[in-house]
Amino acid sequence: MTLVLAFDNSYAQLPPRFYTRQSAVPVRAPRLVAWNTALAAELGIAGGGDEAALARIFAGNEAPEGATPLAQVYAGHQFGGFSPQLGDGRALLLGEVVDRTGQRRDIQLKGSGPTPYSRMGDGRAWLGPVLREYVVSEAMHALGLPTTRALAAVETGEPVYREPGALPGAVLTRVAASHLRVGTFQYFAARRDIEGLRALYDYTVTRHYPQIEGPAHLLAEVIRRQARLVAQWLSVGFIHGVMNTDNTAISGETIDYGPCAFMDDYHPQTVFSSIDAHGRYAYDNQPHVIVWNMAQFATALVPLMPDQDAAIEEFTALVHAMPERIETEWRRLFGRKIGIENASAGDAALAADLLARMAEGRADFTNTFRGLLDGTARDQFVERDAFDTWAEGWRARIARERDPEAVMRAANPAFIPRNHRVEQMIEAAVAGDFAPFERLMDVLSRPYDDQPDAADLRRPPTASEVVHATFCG
Ligand code: AMP
Ligand code: MG
Ligand code: MG
Repeated sequence: MTLVLAFDNSYAQLPPRFYTRQSAVPVRAPRLVAWNTALAAELGIAGGGDEAALARIFAGNEAPEGATPLAQVYAGHQFGGFSPQLGDGRALLLGEVVDRTGQRRDIQLKGSGPTPYSRMGDGRAWLGPVLREYVVSEAMHALGLPTTRALAAVETGEPVYREPGALPGAVLTRVAASHLRVGTFQYFAARRDIEGLRALYDYTVTRHYPQIEGPAHLLAEVIRRQARLVAQWLSVGFIHGVMNTDNTAISGETIDYGPCAFMDDYHPQTVFSSIDAHGRYAYDNQPHVIVWNMAQFATALVPLMPDQDAAIEEFTALVHAMPERIETEWRRLFGRKIGIENASAGDAALAADLLARMAEGRADFTNTFRGLLDGTARDQFVERDAFDTWAEGWRARIARERDPEAVMRAANPAFIPRNHRVEQMIEAAVAGDFAPFERLMDVLSRPYDDQPDAADLRRPPTASEVVHATFCG
């Protein structure tokens, strides 16, 4: 039975300078290692029974009927420095499908071979980062955060060379609302290609924001979604790791799972990424960086405006209002984490006070908040007094709430993809054992359920299990 993807490709209709048409480079021995049945159903993918056929298609060996594979071009600020020309260096957009809810989704292969935008890279990915993105992006979705999804992972049967040697190659199939980035706008703006910028703007509005009127309105909408997203990251202890403008999606989805990580013990300056030497993308810097990224987006939109001085003034005001938006989202989310439905400024201070004590006491982020439900939060602190004195005021406050327990249960996951578990899962998979991958996927699909059988996956790492650095792969 042949696989049917009802492609309806709109990006390929844009002017040729938006991309390079390109086929995937076939791999030696494709083997399907993960397939997301639920997502496939959502996308209306039919006839997915034949694993060998799925492996060939999602390794890039066989282009499915209707695909128009292409590498997208973009630019971006990487760690603050502008690169005028980036692009899909190891990814290809196969095409788009309209899902069951009517939403247009990109189907992208990642690790599918070199493209004109590969620079020094090999265009490939190895199994570790592919499974990491698969697990973490699906966990994010289950946690309720906007994110790209993972449809398939295929081993290539070919080695990929990374420090310190040969590793098994793999291809990930990623599904996204789109791959439009801040960097896509920057590419055309930096080249003074106003016609291209206009075409991109029109495409974006049609695809994502049909109700908006004008670039200022688009900026305001993207700011709104990104403010919400970053506050959501903070609320689950997530550190993206590479918040370059080419990794900031116009759709408001979390995109590009490279050296990302969830925190174990709470510290606001936590950094995992091996390439983030100065902590630019540290946990508590993320709200500042996203504002900076939105300023770059605003700058790229200015050439679309007839009166540019007026536009700069208007856009600046929108960007300057963003920190307060993030603050409002933060207050709402962290209020809920401590059981308060509509948190006031005073309630936000109560949550911030807990975090300060957690940082001092190196308390586990996830287990402390979840532990508010069952009285185990205090056990997360080295100095339990620090928690107990906070909890007095907190108990008095939530006594006035209708159902604080239900609010906390929905806001505080029991399960996150802990780094050491992800690393252990990768190690097993490299050795051919996918059972830990299957188990992580299963448990993380219901992160707010207690799942007593999976208590070991709630445990923070032991000293020898701690992962200190993460890599791009
Ligand atoms: P990232 O920091 O992951 O967003 O990647 C930045 C740029 O490097 C993107 O344009 C990627 O396509 C490109 N890139 C990353 N890894 C590779 C690779 N192994 N081969 C070719 N290009 C790559
Ligand atoms: Mg990227
Ligand atoms: Mg990446």
